[in-house]
Amino acid sequence: MQFRKLKLSGFKSFVEPAELRIEPGLTGVVGPNGCGKSNLLEAIRWVMGENSPKSLRSGGMDDVIFAGTAQRPQRDFAEVVLDAYSADGEELQVTRRIERGAGSAYRVNGRDVRAKDVALVFADAATGAHSPALVSQGKIAAVIAAKPTERRMMLEEAAGIAGLHVRRRDAEGK
Ligand code: ATP
Ligand code: MG
Repeated sequence: MQFRKLKLSGFKSFVEPAELRIEPGLTGVVGPNGCGKSNLLEAIRWVMGENSPKSLRSGGMDDVIFAGTAQRPQRDFAEVVLDAYSADGEELQVTRRIERGAGSAYRVNGRDVRAKDVALVFADAATGAHSPALVSQGKIAAVIAAKPTERRMMLEEAAGIAGLHVRRRDAEGK
């Protein structure tokens, strides 16, 4: 899977619609402290279905919505769109939108889907919200310090095997 573009609106500090192209190869994000580098990575995780407050540095789900500043009012929704080419070269567009107090909705190529469907889209692609391809601050140290079983999980994800486990759990109805 190749990510092509990330579009954000009302997500954390990205209050105005913003668009970023993601070129093939390794992408680094640089900028001054507090400019939104980690928020970008969290937007990628969020659109792929991440809900963990720790991964998103949030208290509640609505905390990803622009909270307002002294100059600007808060927003009522946040939306992130990820454009990608799937492993077999098909165009893929995943959208997640959250309305304040009303929860999240997902779309894949314009069609309403369940969160579970989005998880399956990314499960086989060595991507997903916990992908080792997304290297955040402190991640390198975490790999080094991981227990052997944890490190094995990271390697299985990197190898694209983790998706098999997700599909098996889905098939078993768990
Ligand atoms: P550093 O170099 O320190 O790691 P960074 O570039 O990773 O910084 P981020 O942590 O991505 O920066 O962005 C932090 C900024 O995002 C803060 O100014 C914070 O107030 C703002 N922010 C986070 N959540 C929201 C929100 N819901 N509404 C408005 N602003 C937000
Ligand atoms: Mg950061």
